[in-house]
Amino acid sequence: MTTIDKNKPVMITGATGYVAGWIVKKLLDEGLTVHAPVRDPKNKSKTKYLDELAASAPGKIVYFAADLLTPGSYDAAMEGCELVFHTASPFINKVRDPQKDLVDPALKGTQNVLASVNSTQSVKRVVLTSSCAAIIGDNKDILGYDNQKATEKNWNETSTLTHNPYSYSKTVAEKEAWKIAEGQSRWDLVVINPALVIGPGINPNATSESFTIVKQLGDGSARMGAPNLEIGMVDVRDLAEAHYAAGFTPEAQGRHIIQAGSHTFLSLGLMLREKYANAYPFPKRTLPKFLVWLMAPTVGITRKFVSNSLGYQWKVDNSKGIHGLNLTYRPVKTSIVDMFEQMIQNGTFKK
Ligand code: NAP
Repeated sequence: MTTIDKNKPVMITGATGYVAGWIVKKLLDEGLTVHAPVRDPKNKSKTKYLDELAASAPGKIVYFAADLLTPGSYDAAMEGCELVFHTASPFINKVRDPQKDLVDPALKGTQNVLASVNSTQSVKRVVLTSSCAAIIGDNKDILGYDNQKATEKNWNETSTLTHNPYSYSKTVAEKEAWKIAEGQSRWDLVVINPALVIGPGINPNATSESFTIVKQLGDGSARMGAPNLEIGMVDVRDLAEAHYAAGFTPEAQGRHIIQAGSHTFLSLGLMLREKYANAYPFPKRTLPKFLVWLMAPTVGITRKFVSNSLGYQWKVDNSKGIHGLNLTYRPVKTSIVDMFEQMIQNGTFKK
């Protein structure tokens, strides 16, 4: 049981990111003081969205300079905090060097942030943003799980540096976090494992791969059809509530799968078509698996990914978060439409 004093500041890594934006909003709305270590606090194009939130909320935000790859750089921001949210980690699919671009910031970042936690006596709880990617590598993996459904007890055992490297980065980082947490007894670790996150961004230009994926539904990339890939999804606003509950629910413990429902990209296209009719080239059909397999290298995915993930269902048990963190989820249709609408307003789809 860990009780967090809301009068103390709360630290969050990666505040400029897509997922963290809504967590920062929730913390500010609840009147908390947010310590936000970011790579470049002077870069107003990254922090202006958070400043706007703070201007109309009872809480306040204080920036610090820190980098996941710089040991000790989170010390100053963490001072006096009882609660630390560690969200920062690159979520990008197209990388040149998976070790340098994904694994190093995920793993060394976790080591560095948690080393600062170990040396900051005020910290009582760390909430880590991991991913369903640390639970499921390829969709096919789920067939080998109990009842052919993923739960918090499952770990991704199939991703490597060359096969689904983002998922690998999340798996090694979360494992390391548990190892470090188990080496001490002053603070507890609560892990959030979100499925694919969708919904409007506080910073609509954040680097998250979520934007790239949803953009492809409307920019003509899926005009000929969508791959038969089913994946779990959750709204970024509901995910912020999950993080908040993980931070402030005294009895919260362990991992939590966070998702509203599972859908294919074709079904997302159909949801968008119900709202926007034929105004955008949403996918209308599923592409045959053999065709996607053939084209895979030209569109930046591997044939192994196609073989092991397309055409397999994504089944998870999300009940722990619903009961333990008291979560409710928006329908996926609301999330996808709200996100797409934000993209239209931003001029993402030039006519
Ligand atoms: P994002 O918008 O790209 O945010 C990533 C954040 O990490 C940014 O704030 C970025 O800072 C920061 N960061 C990256 N490298 C850094 C470094 N070397 N030093 C300090 N900060 C660094 O991505 P996101 O989707 O919000 O992802 C946030 C977290 O959610 C990640 O842990 C991701 O694995 C997890 N997650 C995301 C999804 C999803 O579908 N989006 C699903 C499951 C889990 P800059 O602004 O300076 O680049």
